[in-house]
Amino acid sequence: MSAGTVQELLDFIDASHSPWHVVKSIEECLRGHHFTKLEETDQWHLQQGGRYYVVRDDSSIIVFIVGQKPSAEAGFKIVGAHTDSPGLRIKPNAAYATDGMVRLGVEVYGGPILATFTDRDLSLAGRVCYRSENGGIVTKLVNFEHPLLRLPNLAIHMNRKVNEEGLKLSKQSELPLLLSVLVEKQVPLDHFLSLLKSQIGIKQEQLLSWELNVYDTQKGAFWGNDQEFYADSQLDNLASCHAGLKALLANSEATDSTLMCAFFDHEEIGSESVKGADGSFLPDILERIALATETGKEDFQRAMAKSFMISADMAHAYQPNFSSAYEPEHRVMVNKGPVIKVNANHRYTSESVSQAMFVLWCEQAEVPYQKYSHHSDIPCGSTIGPMISARLGIRTVDVGCPMWAMHSIRESAGTLDHDYMIKVLKIFFWESNNC
Ligand code: ZN
Repeated sequence: MSAGTVQELLDFIDASHSPWHVVKSIEECLRGHHFTKLEETDQWHLQQGGRYYVVRDDSSIIVFIVGQKPSAEAGFKIVGAHTDSPGLRIKPNAAYATDGMVRLGVEVYGGPILATFTDRDLSLAGRVCYRSENGGIVTKLVNFEHPLLRLPNLAIHMNRKVNEEGLKLSKQSELPLLLSVLVEKQVPLDHFLSLLKSQIGIKQEQLLSWELNVYDTQKGAFWGNDQEFYADSQLDNLASCHAGLKALLANSEATDSTLMCAFFDHEEIGSESVKGADGSFLPDILERIALATETGKEDFQRAMAKSFMISADMAHAYQPNFSSAYEPEHRVMVNKGPVIKVNANHRYTSESVSQAMFVLWCEQAEVPYQKYSHHSDIPCGSTIGPMISARLGIRTVDVGCPMWAMHSIRESAGTLDHDYMIKVLKIFFWESNNC
C-alpha cells in the first residue's frame, strides 16, 4: 500500500518539472472528482458542498470544498504547501558562444545544492508566451523531455583537492550549461530560440517571452532491499502537495468546515509575490468564499479565528554520516512518521496547542509522529506557516515528512512516511472537530 501511494507520488513528480507543470498535474488529479474551475475575474456563486479551485498565474492553486455550515461557525481547514523547488532558471538572453561551444546562462533560483547539478541528464520545462494569429498572447507549457543540457564536472586530474575541499562553482562562469558545439556562422541565441520555437510549434516571429526551469530527466525510483526508500527530484515540496491532495480527494461526505489545499509558488525565494504565500492570493480567496457564503467583515474574522492550517513542508531526516549537524535529542528518522517542527523564534509556527492538536490527529490515525528542533549553532530554515498565520490569525502547525538531501537535485525519503502523512491529513480534513 505504501509503495502504491509513493509510486503515485513519483509519477506525479515525473509529470511536474516546473511549478507551472505542477499546477497542471494537480488539475489532472482533480479531473473526475467534480471540481469546477473558478476565475478570479468572474463573479462567484458558491454552493454548500460545492468543489472548486482557483489558479493564480499558472503556478499557485487553491482547491476547496465548501462546508455545510457558515465559515464563521465552522472555519476553514487548510493544508498549505509549495509548488516550487530550488534550482536553475535560464536567463533571457541565454545562449552565448564560448571557445567553440554554445552555453546557456543560468540564474540560481532559491538555494539548491549546486554541486548536485553536475553530471546529470538535464532538460528544460516551463512556460512560453507567444503572439497568436490575431495579435493576442497565448500561454503554453513546454517540456523538452529528453536530456538537452549538461554541466560536466572538471576531471579530478585538474581539480585535485575536490574531495578535500568540496566542489565550488562560480555562478557566473562555471554554472552555464553546455548545449552544443558551435556551428560556423551560427548565432547562439537564434539557435537556442529556434529549438524552443520548434518544441512548441510556432514561427520565428511569434515568440514573445518565456520562463524555463532546469530539471533532471532521471525518473523517480525506490531503493533499499525492501523498497523502503525512494528518490526523486522536488520531494521538497511536491510530496506534501501530493499528500494534501490525496487526503482531500479521499472522501466525498459533507463536512461542516470548508476544506482547502493551498499550494503556492515562490516559497523558495521568500513568498513575496503576486502568487506567493505572503501575497494576497490566500486572503483574497478566503474572503471571497466567506463573503459568498455569508455576510459581513466580522463574520470573516470569526471564520479566521475558527480556522486551522497544517503547513506541510519536508523535514530533515537524520543521516548518521553527518551526526554532528543534528540536534542530538531531536534526530528524526525516515519511516518513523510525520515530523512536528518546533522553533522558539517562530521560524516554524507550531506552538503547544497546535502541536497538541496534531498529536491527537496522529493518534486517531494510528500514525507515529516525531518532534524536530534544529541544531542550535546552525541557522534554521522556515516555511509558509509563519507568514500566513501572522497575516490571517489562523492557528497553524508546521509538519512534514522526514527526508534526506533537501535541495539536492536528487532527494530521498522513507516509503512509509508518505502514507502516514496522508492518513493524518485525512483525519484532519474528514474527522477532526477541533476547529
Ligand atoms: Zn520546502
